[in-house]
Amino acid sequence: MERKQFQLGDIVQMKKNHPCGSNEMEIIRMGMDIRIKCVGCKHSVLIPRAKFEKNMKKVLRSATSETEATDNE
Ligand SMILES: [Zn+2]
Repeated sequence: MERKQFQLGDIVQMKKNHPCGSNEMEIIRMGMDIRIKCVGCKHSVLIPRAKFEKNMKKVLRSATSETEATDNE
């Protein structure tokens, strides 16, 4: 099973596009809930972590270097 890794500042793609047409979201707060901001219209939403993980498709751009992401290879 693919493990989803994400962190603050990452640009992620959600399964559903935002109503504005953009599907890129930036993670701007992490905690019990995750706050993401739409890259297209700058609208931000707070969603429970479990729901975020379920609705997140993939990380498009990581805030940190990619060497860390491939550490387990
Ligand atoms: Zn939007």
